[in-house]
Amino acid sequence: MRKGRARVHRVVPFVIRLVDVDATTPGIEVDGVELGIDPGSKHTGMAVFTTDRAGTRQAVFLADLIHRGLTIKNAMTARKQLRRGRRSRNLRYRAPRFDNRRRRPVDGLDVWLAPSTRHRVVTTLSWVDRLAGWAPVTNVWVEAVRFDTQQMENPEIAGVQYQQGTLAGFEVREYLLTKYGHTCVYCDTQGVPLNIDHVRPRSKGGSDRVSNLVLACVPCNQAKDARPVETFLAHDPARLARIKAGLTRPLRDAAAVNSTRWALTRAIEARGFPTKTSTGGRTKYNRTQFAVPKAHALDALCVGDLTAVTGWPATTLTVTCTGRGTYQRAHVDKHGFPRKNKAGTPAVRSRTKVHHGFQTGDLVRAVVPTGKKKGTHVGRIGVRATGSMLVGKTDGINHKHIRRIQRADGYAYQTTPTVTKDET
Ligand SMILES: [Zn+2]
Repeated sequence: MRKGRARVHRVVPFVIRLVDVDATTPGIEVDGVELGIDPGSKHTGMAVFTTDRAGTRQAVFLADLIHRGLTIKNAMTARKQLRRGRRSRNLRYRAPRFDNRRRRPVDGLDVWLAPSTRHRVVTTLSWVDRLAGWAPVTNVWVEAVRFDTQQMENPEIAGVQYQQGTLAGFEVREYLLTKYGHTCVYCDTQGVPLNIDHVRPRSKGGSDRVSNLVLACVPCNQAKDARPVETFLAHDPARLARIKAGLTRPLRDAAAVNSTRWALTRAIEARGFPTKTSTGGRTKYNRTQFAVPKAHALDALCVGDLTAVTGWPATTLTVTCTGRGTYQRAHVDKHGFPRKNKAGTPAVRSRTKVHHGFQTGDLVRAVVPTGKKKGTHVGRIGVRATGSMLVGKTDGINHKHIRRIQRADGYAYQTTPTVTKDET
C-alpha cells in the first residue's frame, strides 16, 4: 500500500485490493483458498485456509458468525399475538382459517424453512459470497451432518462398533449425543460432560456395539462402575425398562435433524462452488488428532479430509447478525399500548432511518475536542433525530464530531482471541 500498489477495499474485515495486477495479467497465477463451514444454531464457524499438496491446512482468516434466530422467532411471536388480538377484539367469533396458506421456498433456497432457520442459512450464504468475492475460493467444506448417516443407517442392527479414539468411535459418539439429546440416561442431567456407558459392562462380556451403549454423566458412570444395569437401577424399575427398550430402537429422524445443513450445502453447490461435505464426528476426530483447541472457527478449519493443521490467526472476527432496524413504529408495552421507554425515547419512532447523514449500525469515529467526552471514540453508532448520538458505549456525542468509517451492513464486528483461556 505504501508503494501505491494496493488500496483499501474494505475496513472491517480489512481487505485490500491490488491495483497494478489482476487475474488477466500475464504470469499471474493465484492458488486460491478453501473455505470451511461449521453451521450451528447459534454460531456458524467459518475458516479461510490454504492447503498444501500434503493436505496440511493453514488458516488465513477465521470468523465466528453469531445468528439471531431466537430474536427473529420472539419478534414474530409477538407480532402474531398482537395481530391475533387486533383481528378478533370487538368482533364476532370467526372460525380460524387454515387451508389458504402456502409454504413456498424463498431466498433462492429449494425448501421452505422457518424464518428463524432460514436466516441462519441465508446469512451464512451471504458470507460465502462475500469471502469468495475477496479471495478466489476453490473448495467449500461443509459439516453437513452431525454423524455419518450412511454408516449409521441402522447402527443398532448393523453393528457399528465404538472404539475410543477412532473415526468410527467419534461418529458413534455424535450419534449417541443426538439419540439421547445430550442427556444422562440415569439422572436426566444436561449440560455436563457425558461418558459413553456400557449398559452391560465390558468386564461382564458387554460389547462395544451401539445397542449396548448409552450416555451417562461422570458421577452416574462412576457410581454404576462395573455393575449390571439391573443392579444399579434396582430402585427405579420404570427407568430401567425405558432404557432397555431404547437400546435397540434406532434414531428415527436422523435426516430431519440435519435438514438445515443440507439446505445450506445445496445452496452453496447451486452457486457453483465445488462443495464437499463431512460430518461432526469427523471434525471432532480431526480436532483431537491434531490437538486443535475448541472454538467454532477452529471447528470450521477441521471440517473434512486433512492430514495436519499448521496454524491459525491469533484473533477471530466475531460477526454478530444485528438486522437492519425494525418496521415497528411504536414502542409498545407487553399489552400492546404505546409507551415511552426508560431512556425517554418517544413512543412513536421517526419514519426516517438516516439522521444527520448517519444510520444506526454505521461504523464511525468521533473526535470530541472538549468537554466530559473529550477524546476519540470508535464504534457502532446509534442515531437520534436530535443529533446526540451513541458511539460504541459512549452516549450523547454531537453528530458534528463524527465521521463514518463504514456503512451499516446488518452485522456488528468485534475482534476476539481465537483461543480463550478456558477453552484450552
Ligand atoms: Zn447422571
